[in-house]
Amino acid sequence: MGFTYSDNNGNRASGGGKRAPSRKNIKRNTASAKLFLAGVLVLLAAFLAVVCYTLSQPENVDPSQGQTDEGSLQSEAASSLEELSTVSPLSTAKPVTTTKSSSTTKKQQLLPSPGIIKINPDNWELTLVNTRYRLPEGYVPPKLLTVVNDCRLDSRVVPHYLDMYNAALEDGVKLTPFSGYRSYEMQERNYNNKIRYYQGEGYNKAEAAVKAAAVIMPPGSSEHNLGVAMDIVTCDSWFETTDEFTWLRENAYKYGFIMRYAKEKTDITGVIYEPWHWRYVGVKTATDIYKTRNAEGVEICLEEYLGVSK
Ligand SMILES: [Zn+2]
Repeated sequence: MGFTYSDNNGNRASGGGKRAPSRKNIKRNTASAKLFLAGVLVLLAAFLAVVCYTLSQPENVDPSQGQTDEGSLQSEAASSLEELSTVSPLSTAKPVTTTKSSSTTKKQQLLPSPGIIKINPDNWELTLVNTRYRLPEGYVPPKLLTVVNDCRLDSRVVPHYLDMYNAALEDGVKLTPFSGYRSYEMQERNYNNKIRYYQGEGYNKAEAAVKAAAVIMPPGSSEHNLGVAMDIVTCDSWFETTDEFTWLRENAYKYGFIMRYAKEKTDITGVIYEPWHWRYVGVKTATDIYKTRNAEGVEICLEEYLGVSK
């Protein structure tokens, strides 16, 4: 579009000079030409302003696409393994107009101040972790065990995961673990990198933190930091359509696992629909959750089960 501007101008500027004009006409023509030129310049300036503004905007984050600093192994599911917070207050920050410094009078969107949780050893498997309830800084589970390769979980969860894995295998379904425990430090690193990225895009620190939290959960607020959740993947592009998912939906609760982030509960969990993310809560709780459903057949989420949905 922009390329045609100068051509049009050039054609018009050179196209009107066939007759021998009077001095009056010349004056008039010169005045109209000046007016025309001024108009074109204004339009051009407006066009350039729009282009510059568009180019200066950070990429729009589409939560359904997902982003992670860990690199993607395969398609959408694997590339979206980091839980994405989609709570509206976290995703409505506006860019600053200049890169100089943040305006003190400007109203800022801030992350909710989180409460630091204390894990009760008697019901550790019910520990609620999200952006509002975070693990203490530097938290490490009491003991970690490897499930496969560098995939680890809290040692108390591993036997249950393996029972589930073997039961599925007997039914001809292979539950491939992709991502289990992630350290607090790693979460912090990824999160801080994302904050720096948005600061580089012209956001001030508070706004950059809000933007970053919409993509990568802040340290201590991911269930992967707690060591009780496993992301299970397949080579298919969308986990929900796989046999593995169907099997998990029908059987995971028998081994104490729940699908943590349902599509109907994103406003409560603050996390997008993640069919690949399975979390251990113990057989009794998982069974209760699995069987407590509304009229549409949607089971309750952990927040609702624990009575802390808001
Ligand atoms: Zn996950």
